[in-house]
Amino acid sequence: MATFTTTNPTTGRTEQEYSALEDADVDQVLARTAGAFADWSATPPDRRAAILSRVADAYDARSEELGRLIATEMGKPLEQSIGEARLAGAIYRWYAEHGPELLQPETLDPQGAEESLVQTAPIGPLVGVMPWNYPYYQVARFVAPNLMAGNTILLKHAGICAASAELMERILHEAGVPTDAYLDVRASHEQVARMIADPRVRGVSLTGSEKAGASVAETAAQHLKKSVLELGGSDPLIVLEDGDIDEVARTAATARLSNAGQACNSPKRLIVPNAQLDAFVSAVVEVFRQARLGDPLDEHTDVGPLSSVAARDAVEAQVARAAEQGATVHIGGAATGDQGAFLEPAVLTGVTEEMDAYREEIFGPVAVIHGVDSVDEAVELANDVPFGLSGSVWGNDLERAQEVADRLEVGMAYVNEHGTTLPGLPFGGVKRSGFGRELGRWGMGEFVNVRLRRTA
Ligand code: NDP
Repeated sequence: MATFTTTNPTTGRTEQEYSALEDADVDQVLARTAGAFADWSATPPDRRAAILSRVADAYDARSEELGRLIATEMGKPLEQSIGEARLAGAIYRWYAEHGPELLQPETLDPQGAEESLVQTAPIGPLVGVMPWNYPYYQVARFVAPNLMAGNTILLKHAGICAASAELMERILHEAGVPTDAYLDVRASHEQVARMIADPRVRGVSLTGSEKAGASVAETAAQHLKKSVLELGGSDPLIVLEDGDIDEVARTAATARLSNAGQACNSPKRLIVPNAQLDAFVSAVVEVFRQARLGDPLDEHTDVGPLSSVAARDAVEAQVARAAEQGATVHIGGAATGDQGAFLEPAVLTGVTEEMDAYREEIFGPVAVIHGVDSVDEAVELANDVPFGLSGSVWGNDLERAQEVADRLEVGMAYVNEHGTTLPGLPFGGVKRSGFGRELGRWGMGEFVNVRLRRTA
C-alpha cells in the first residue's frame, strides 16, 4: 500500500508513515465534498465567519505546538515556525472579520430596470495543492477565503507534510467546519488529476513549482476549470546609489536566510551599484558567515536544514554548476553536518547571462549579487528572468525609489522593505510566477460566481 512518509530533515530519521488515499476511495471523497457543499454554501456568512474566527483562536492558542511540528517536519527554525502559525491564524481572522462584508450584494445603477444587483456566490468544491515551505500559511491563504465564500475543499498537501496537514484538518473540524467541507486527502498526482477532471470539482489552486503548476493547469484547462497558480520567483532587490549599503546588505542577507532561503519571494538576486559592490558583498558574506546552522528547535539557530536531502542536493548542485560555469563563490555552497539536509549558506558573484544561475530559481540559502553601472541596467537585469513575483528597491529618495519600483515586472513591488505579506494585501505574480491573486479581497474573488440579478 502506498504511504506518505515524514522525515526529520535535521536528523534524517523517518518520523511517521501515513496511508495514502486508495484509488477506490477517490470517488467517495468527491461525493463527500460535493455533498457538503449544499449545506455549507447555504450556511449564513456570519456563521461561517464565526467558525473561521474559532480557527484563528486555535492557531493563536496552539502556535507553539504547531511551530514545533513543522520545525521537525520541514526544518524551519522554531521562532519562524511559530510566527508562521500566528500569520496563518491572522489570515483566518482577517477573513472572519471582513468576509461577510465582502460577500454583501452590491447594488448597481439599475439603468432603466427596477434593480441591478451583483451577488457573490460560491462555485462549489475546490482542490488545493500546497507545498511544504510554509505548510500553514500557504494552506490558510487558499482555505480561509474559500471556506468564507462557501466553497468546500479537498486539500492535497506536500507529501513530506502529512503530519501538519493532518493537524490542520483537526483544527478546522474542531472549530466547527463540517467534516466533509474540508478534507485532507493524501492523494497521488494522478488522483489529483482525476479530482480536477471530475465534474463535481469547480476549480484548483496550486502553490509550488512551475512543473507542478503546468501539469495541474493543463488538466484544469482540458476540463474548462479555473486555476490559480502561485509558482516560483527569482526576486530582485535593487539598491540605489543613495541606499545605506551596510544596512541594506544586512537586511537583505537576513531575509535571504529566512526559512533557509526556501521562499518563493525571497530576495534571491541582490543588485547594487558597481561602486559599492565590494562593500556590499563583504557585508552579506559576514552575515552568512555568522549565521548559526543547527537544530531548528534550538533557539540559537538562525538557519535550519533544507526541507529534505534531495532539496539540499539540488541546491548544492546549482552552486557547483555556477562555479563550473565561471561564477565566484565567496562562501559556502557545500553540504555540511554528519546527518540531515544542511547546506552552508553561499554568496555568488560574477553570474553572467550564459550561466544557468542567472535565470534559475535557487530555492535555498544562496545569494547572487550583481554589480551594475546604472539604474537602467539594474532594472533591465531585474526583469531579465522568466519570473515576476516580487521585487524591491532601496534608497533614501523615496520618490525616485518608487519610480524605479514601478518599472519592475512583478506582482508585488516594495520600496525599502522586501516581501512583506499581510492578510489584507494581494499576493501573486506575473510571467512564470503564475496567475491569480491570494489574500485580501482579491483572494476571495478568484473562486466565486459574480452573479447578476436584474429585475425589470
Ligand atoms: P512541487 O511543486 O513538486 O510540490 C508542490 C506541491 O505540488 C506538492 O503538494 C506536490 O505533491 C504537488 N505536485 C507536484 N506535482 C504535481 C502534479 N503533477 N499533480 C498534482 N500535484 C503535484 O515542489 P517540490 O517540492 O518538488 O519543489 C521543487 C521546486 O518547486 C522548488 O525548488 C521551488 O523552486 C519550487 N517551489 C516553489 C514554492 C513556492 O512557494 N512558490 C513552494 C515549493 C516549491 P507531492 O509532494 O506529493 O509531490
